[in-house]
Amino acid sequence: MLGRRDEHAPGGSTGVAQAAALLRSGRLNVVLTGAGISTESGLPDFRSKDGLWARMDPARIASLSAFRRDPQAFYAFYTNRLEALAHAAPNAGHRALARLEALGMVQVVVTQNVDGLHQRAGSRRVVEVHGNLREARCAGCGTIGPIEEMGAVLRAGALPRCGRCGGLRRPNVVLFEELLPASAYEQAEAACRECGVLLVVGSSLEVHPVAGLPVLAVERGARLIIVNREETACDALADLVLRGEAGTVLPEIVRAAEGAAALPAG
Ligand code: NAD
Repeated sequence: MLGRRDEHAPGGSTGVAQAAALLRSGRLNVVLTGAGISTESGLPDFRSKDGLWARMDPARIASLSAFRRDPQAFYAFYTNRLEALAHAAPNAGHRALARLEALGMVQVVVTQNVDGLHQRAGSRRVVEVHGNLREARCAGCGTIGPIEEMGAVLRAGALPRCGRCGGLRRPNVVLFEELLPASAYEQAEAACRECGVLLVVGSSLEVHPVAGLPVLAVERGARLIIVNREETACDALADLVLRGEAGTVLPEIVRAAEGAAALPAG
């Protein structure tokens, strides 16, 4: 039985070795990420003291009713996020998860992030449960197209309208007051129901329904590892809590996993 709530001391902690051992032994390993994995790429998270929601009220800016009430303010918020994303690149944490997948120690990445940085780092099986910022969708007829067209219209000072029905186009992300895309959420739930290990990285685990996935995984017998720089809502459920920066801790796990794999058997 592993100790719970192992505080992580960067550089050779037993927690890192235990995480690597769990990932090596798991038959189906799933990673669940949140905004915290992308802060080291320069993209702010939501609930940290310097996160996006410390500066604004999400219900007033990133909700379906805000989009309907004040599309200009809504578009200004997303234009800023798209500009930040245009200058962002995957960091060592994203690359470490892609490496674990290449090593056969991660089978699926479920992400709440809409930034596409996992795919850019080389992760191949990524389930985006909160949508993405690559596409725009018509709020009227649902037609999907590249987000660049929406950005170009906004930069020209006009409202982005659908060529088919005239409805307003918006990023293809899940807003407050909206349901998650059913197929993506079903895939995430199935993966968490079946997995041997669930590794959660950079999520406060406060946003439902995704926050219920670690509970589901543990109820079904999975081992739970949490990597986060602060406490999360599910720490008490975890077999291992590694406290630190994702861009430091995840490469340490990869090194431990690769080092052990290179040892002669016996
Ligand atoms: P969060 O901001 O709630 O939590 C981020 C966590 O990561 C925090 O606990 C923080 O301490 C930690 N963290 C930050 N940087 C870190 C680092 N470098 N290393 C390790 N840990 C780090 O973000 P969340 O859990 O992803 O939940 C919020 C979700 O709400 C978002 O994913 C977002 O998709 C979603 N949401 C957004 C909107 C919107 O923008 N329109 C609407 C609805 C829901």
